[in-house]
Amino acid sequence: LRDERGRALRMAGANWDATRLAQAREELERSNRELDDFTYTASHDLKEPLRGIASFAQYLQQDYAERLDDEGRLMIQKIRDQARRMETLIAELLHISRMSRGGMAREDTDLNAVLHDILESLDFSLKEKAVDLRIPRPLPRAHCDRIRVGELFRNLITNAIKYNDKTDRWIEIGCEVINLDRVFYVRDNGIGIKPEHHARVFSLFERLHKRDAYGGGTGVGLTIVQKIVQLHGGRIWIESRPGEGTTFHFTLPERNLHEQEQDARA
Ligand code: ADP
Repeated sequence: LRDERGRALRMAGANWDATRLAQAREELERSNRELDDFTYTASHDLKEPLRGIASFAQYLQQDYAERLDDEGRLMIQKIRDQARRMETLIAELLHISRMSRGGMAREDTDLNAVLHDILESLDFSLKEKAVDLRIPRPLPRAHCDRIRVGELFRNLITNAIKYNDKTDRWIEIGCEVINLDRVFYVRDNGIGIKPEHHARVFSLFERLHKRDAYGGGTGVGLTIVQKIVQLHGGRIWIESRPGEGTTFHFTLPERNLHEQEQDARA
């Protein structure tokens, strides 16, 4: 707004935009919270009846097996399998909503130690699939939730092992600077993801490669990975060519200035 001589009085437009933006952000956060609460309550309430279905099916299988023909027995087994699958999905939904509700417990974290523990627990799969693991340089420290970030690495590495048909499989884990941003990556030379599917893979229950050849899965792993990155205020994106391989890039917060100063003094 300007007076009659053209002097600036007030930035009305800018104020209005900032207020509207803050309101929209608040609204979005509130509806996200409501969605998390709903997911939590719904998943929690579904557990009980599901447990009932599973235990009745188990009871039928154990005590009525002789009275059933082969088809009947097969059907009961299918009910049990599906109930187990649903139990896993509900547990994962609960896990995601607990994570959102609880937030991230951030601390100064040595990512090399986190990675070391994860790789140790995946040692069997890595050896079984003869994966050549490459870590060109030590990873920098981050200000993050070490348990969740371990989970993030575990999900990405498990996928990198799983979605790879080649005999000379390799996985590279590292960190590089892209456009002044410190970007972590997990790269594989596996089956790849078509460009039109890049956004979809982060959706809940989305699975592109459903064939048993790649092992079972629930389509929740990458939703969890994306959630962990976002709850740290970071970004995640994919670079991939079908048949050549995939790279998952993500950012994580650096240590805050206060901690860096403390380190410098020590
Ligand atoms: P899940 O592995 O349980 O199916 P995820 O959420 O971890 O679920 O992954 C979703 C889908 O994204 C997978 O089903 C698979 O099709 C695809 N995907 C994930 N990681 C990779 C990868 N490294 N290479 C190729 N495809 C992948």
